Amino acid sequence: MLQNVRGMRDLMPDDVWKLRFIEGNARRLAELYGYEEVITPIIEHYELLAAKVGEETRKRMYAFVDLGGRKVALRPEFTASIARLVITRMVAAPKPIRLFSFGSLYRYDEPQLGRYREFWQANYELIGSSRPEADVEILCLTNDFLRGLGLRNYTIKVNHIGVLRGILLHEGVPEDGQNAIMQALDKKDWEGAMSLAKSLGVGDACLETLRSIIGIRGYDESTFINEVSNTIKAYPEAISALENFRRTLELSERSGLKAQLYFEAGFARGLEYYTGIIFEAYVPELDIAICGGGRYDRLVESFGGGPLPAIGVAFGVDRIMLAMEKQGISPSRPPRKRVLIIPLDCGLLAEAIKLAGMLRENGIPSEVEVMGRNLSRALSDGSRRDITHAVIIGPKEFSEGKIVFRDMRGKVQEDIRIGDLPAKICPKSSSHRS
Ligand code: AMP
Repeated sequence: MLQNVRGMRDLMPDDVWKLRFIEGNARRLAELYGYEEVITPIIEHYELLAAKVGEETRKRMYAFVDLGGRKVALRPEFTASIARLVITRMVAAPKPIRLFSFGSLYRYDEPQLGRYREFWQANYELIGSSRPEADVEILCLTNDFLRGLGLRNYTIKVNHIGVLRGILLHEGVPEDGQNAIMQALDKKDWEGAMSLAKSLGVGDACLETLRSIIGIRGYDESTFINEVSNTIKAYPEAISALENFRRTLELSERSGLKAQLYFEAGFARGLEYYTGIIFEAYVPELDIAICGGGRYDRLVESFGGGPLPAIGVAFGVDRIMLAMEKQGISPSRPPRKRVLIIPLDCGLLAEAIKLAGMLRENGIPSEVEVMGRNLSRALSDGSRRDITHAVIIGPKEFSEGKIVFRDMRGKVQEDIRIGDLPAKICPKSSSHRS
């Protein structure tokens, strides 16, 4: 009973500090790119969340019936909620709509390093444009986010899901069947994908094409595009998807996107709603994706909104924390002042509490000794807890309007006037509040 539920973690102060550091970076980036922050509920209707999330995630959702008899679920991702919000609250908003969200998500995944049942994402959605420049914006934002945190040597794996879907569509495979094949590809179950395709009536020539496609991968863009292009000659829908991909890649190169891209024609993502470019980022130290995204031009429409093309990216904050650790990136916590106020006898407790209030009014974090310890024990406890300054209130000094001020690091102390305390601790603190 006292153990965490499997897959759930407590975040200790240092973890929270790192998480908030990444959150702060994410929010600053949102501002720089013009994304407005929204907060959507953690609980949504099951049908909304389940509709397009893909079989793998669908069966891992925390779903339950609430006390009012509604079938609800904890969100396993942000995009469905954002699509709902756009349809219900932002239908007349000028396009494009740029939205940012940060929060926790829930999936009944098998817990392991970097895979938890409660995890955090920073999520960006660009809604209303189907153009390559929108794709390039999301790629640039992804690169800026990862680079801004100091991550190195990451690779962004990219593909255009329209190529695979175009081949399957041409072969008459219905969307459900396409989705099942995508799920198998997402799990790198190439053989499973091929036998599924066969069972769905895909002919031998097309199976051969699929097999070749799945094998095309590499760092060189033009080799990749040429190889795919030569393989899909019989499939007009796939050809136009590849042309769209080529235009996005060309624009990103001309725009100076400085990211290592890796092209993989058999790469698919588990979420069912993707229609265009898809991508995931990896660092060499971890074999799990630290972010994922892609274009989803029909999701909003499938929920009953108008045709509204969109593209988004979600950063896995927990995995980014891991990646930073693996690369030795430890953002330093800015030095902070922490004052401990120690009354020398009980009669001075009220003065200690008032003094703490006065310091906090001046923006100085202050704690009162609340354990009734004597001076030496209170001071040694303060050293253990990174207290930077102690303020000792003794009856004699206090009757003269003074206190003893102790610098805990230098272990030196002096009597000073109470009114001089804020300026002594924090030379700029008096202007701090103006
Ligand atoms: P997705 O919503 O599946 O596109 O995932 C986007 C990102 O969220 C992934 O690239 C991971 O970094 C992160 N993520 C997904 N599932 C988990 C999980 N169970 N635990 C931790 N991070 C996750």
